[in-house]
Amino acid sequence: QAKKAGRNTIHWYSSEITEQMSERVILRRELEKAMQKGHLALHYQPIVDARTSRLIGVEALVRWNHPKRGLISPAVFIPLAEQTGQIISIGDWVLREACANISEIQRAAGHELTIAVNISPLQFARSRFIERIESVLETFHLPPKSLELEVTEGVFLEDEALAFEVLESIRNLGVRVSIDDFGTGYSSLSYLRRLPVNKIKIDRSFIREITQNTRDKAILGGIIELAHHLDLQVVAEGVETAEQAQILQQFRCDHLQGFYFARPMPFSELLNYIAAARARDAATSRAKK
Ligand code: C2E
Ligand code: MG
Ligand code: MG
Ligand code: MG
Repeated sequence: QAKKAGRNTIHWYSSEITEQMSERVILRRELEKAMQKGHLALHYQPIVDARTSRLIGVEALVRWNHPKRGLISPAVFIPLAEQTGQIISIGDWVLREACANISEIQRAAGHELTIAVNISPLQFARSRFIERIESVLETFHLPPKSLELEVTEGVFLEDEALAFEVLESIRNLGVRVSIDDFGTGYSSLSYLRRLPVNKIKIDRSFIREITQNTRDKAILGGIIELAHHLDLQVVAEGVETAEQAQILQQFRCDHLQGFYFARPMPFSELLNYIAAARARDAATSRAKK
């Protein structure tokens, strides 16, 4: 195809490829620097109980604070880090940082907050992943049930048998696992039956139109009901409006997460958010008495 189009096209193509490659090389080097200099940060997004709106946990979401480019989204640099293998060290850092922060909160507030951490397939498949988790939990004196690992259906693509084995070991540790972006991968619903996981996170794309689209609404209701029959908890991500939250509540979705409740925020802000949430909860329970 390129040949037929003539020399200029070939030239154009190859220079674009070179550009993309050098862009990658640059980003890769900068990412290395960012890790050394502490330019990565975790933001936390609250997850609430659908029935009571009480805060039950947070999800850790990594950010890259680039000195010149500003805040870079994980949607940009995580896929790159997965290609270069840097996701291993980033993932280790994320796990430690998230556990350190949540244990600080638990110590201060005696709060039973859970921390959800995103795990890439590459991390998951690595030997000693389990030991890594054990050692982090021990370091920060975190009860295993406070930690939840979010994996996508991608973990089953490479080596399904291994993935099941790792999931089983994680379960034996008492750490919880959820399937992130549920519905966007190759998940068949019957597959769920065999999965040793605790929870599914329904992808935002299924939530977006539930107020207008009756088919989406029907699918959502079906997924939630089925998950519950299989003893799985359900979280909905990307809840942006009161109407969406209300529908999810009617469908008995367990937990909700999205901009309607709170955006991801830095740790310092999270501390204020939690303090405010606790004050609110205390006021509500006083009012009930
Ligand atoms: P995810 O795990 O599915 O995280 C949810 C994403 O949706 C987050 O984007 C969050 O900010 C965004 N979000 C939450 N509520 C709403 C909402 O109501 N409306 C809209 N439009 N968006 C909402 P973010 O932080 O940009 O992260 C993107 C993805 O990057 C994550 O998707 C996850 O796959 C990946 N990621 C983030 N942090 C990590 C990490 O530490 N490790 C790994 N392996 N991946 C990560
Ligand atoms: Mg996630
Ligand atoms: Mg998700
Ligand atoms: Mg998502």
